[in-house]
Amino acid sequence: MAGLWIPTSITAHRQARELTIVWNDGHTSVYPFFLLRSACPCAECRGGHEGMNTEPDPRLFGLNGEDSPAIRLKNIVAVGNYAINIEWEDGHHYGIYNWTYLRKLCPCPQCHPSVRNHGD
Ligand SMILES: [Zn+2]
Ligand SMILES: [Zn+2]
Repeated sequence: MAGLWIPTSITAHRQARELTIVWNDGHTSVYPFFLLRSACPCAECRGGHEGMNTEPDPRLFGLNGEDSPAIRLKNIVAVGNYAINIEWEDGHHYGIYNWTYLRKLCPCPQCHPSVRNHGD
């Protein structure tokens, strides 16, 4: 059902620094804030427009992050019915995370049984 993933709920847990998304197929994704920030799909973070809207970089999944304003989630704004825009406490607010991108970013063992260099 690629492309048909739609969240039924999106919850930010600021204490745990995690964002939880429950999907319409029943799957639950828990994203540490640093993962979302590291995977920010905006042109600035992806190094130009060619990098936009590509698959999440598999190297992101093993990352850990020190607490900083850059990975403190300030606000989430719905973008149409296809994406969310995340604003961070350091003022960065350019990332538009569409549902497919978020689903591919899901760091759970089921979605990423082993982190490999490219796709499957
Ligand atoms: Zn960005
Ligand atoms: Zn998953």
